[in-house]
Amino acid sequence: LPTPRSAALLFGWLAFQVALQVLLPGKVVTGLAQRDGVRMQYKLNGLISLVVTLALGGCLYAAGLIRGQVVLEELGPLLSCSILFAFAFSLFIYVYGFTSQRDEERSGILVYDYFMGSSLNPRIGKLFDLKLFFESKIGMTTWIVLAFAMACAQYERTGSLSKEMMLVCVLQLWYVVDFYWFEDAMLTTWDINYENYGFMLAQGFIVWMPFNFSLQAQYLVYHQPNIPLAVIPLIALFNFAGYYVFRASNLQKHHFRTDPNAQIWGKPPTFLQTKRGTKLLTSGFWGLARHTNYLGDLMMALAWCLPSGFSHIPPYFYFIYFAPLLIDRERRDHKVCAQKYGQDWETYCAKVKYRIVPGIY
Ligand code: NDP
Repeated sequence: LPTPRSAALLFGWLAFQVALQVLLPGKVVTGLAQRDGVRMQYKLNGLISLVVTLALGGCLYAAGLIRGQVVLEELGPLLSCSILFAFAFSLFIYVYGFTSQRDEERSGILVYDYFMGSSLNPRIGKLFDLKLFFESKIGMTTWIVLAFAMACAQYERTGSLSKEMMLVCVLQLWYVVDFYWFEDAMLTTWDINYENYGFMLAQGFIVWMPFNFSLQAQYLVYHQPNIPLAVIPLIALFNFAGYYVFRASNLQKHHFRTDPNAQIWGKPPTFLQTKRGTKLLTSGFWGLARHTNYLGDLMMALAWCLPSGFSHIPPYFYFIYFAPLLIDRERRDHKVCAQKYGQDWETYCAKVKYRIVPGIY
């Protein structure tokens, strides 16, 4: 059950992240034209917010003012508090969505629209985009801070940090820093441009991402899998191979969409000009499969689970749910693109045959 301390932690944390979003400087970037032709502006200051969060956290920890053990003790209450907040917040964005002046897509079925959202970009003021804020700041930063809190809790309990815990924290920190480094790439993603903001995405980033993505660190507080030292660099290598596929493919699409003449793998890009006006890239990773970016993500997901050894299933939960999630996501994106692009999409699929894994799937 929620406790006063967990509620204070959650709402203090949310308020702190809101303050960083509003007060810290950030570049203002214009997103893609959305389904109604509108191009939204976004204030991006994720990296500096993360640095301030981690630096302040480090100082408070060194001063003995915060402890990982407290987060560990409050993990259950924090989870239930976050779940309740996600339900209430989704109700707010469902109602708030009806104040939108844009041409929003809704089913008219209350439960469905509550789940999927009643508007595309609910905003407070001109620049505070709720969807981007919760996806980026809350989802990613809460996750890595929870993982670090678990590392601190392990240190406080055992007097040392295990190599497995260090590996998980370093690999996940890399992912989060990278995400903020390329934060504007988020603006060309499906979530931002096509998915209404409702319970699915709200709870996804308030609850699902922070608490599930940090499961390996939560597990390692209590377990010592004793992975052989030589295996640690192999796991890191597998992670960074996945990272390369993930990052390079996402960037290829992003650069192509912002500058269609930018070279890919040393050559001018090949593409399919659609009747809808946009171009579909058919070279680089986008010529190998239609969602190679998902493959890279899945390799990294597996790499984060491997340091937990093979004795228990829960630390593998991330990979176990993520694989079907991305397989389903690719199919949903495929359906949306087939509707959007019609015959052009069929031509594109005939050219780029594989869905996620080149040569296999
Ligand atoms: P994408 O970034 O792949 O975006 C899909 C959209 O890109 C399509 O709807 C289409 O929109 C456009 N597109 C498709 N093919 C092409 C092409 N050949 N050339 C140019 N544009 C194309 O999908 P996501 O938003 O799902 O994923 C972004 C990243 O986020 C991925 O790396 C994914 O793995 C990651 N992710 C991570 C999750 C996690 O929980 N860790 C969850 C979900 C995603 P249009 O043409 O209309 O612009």
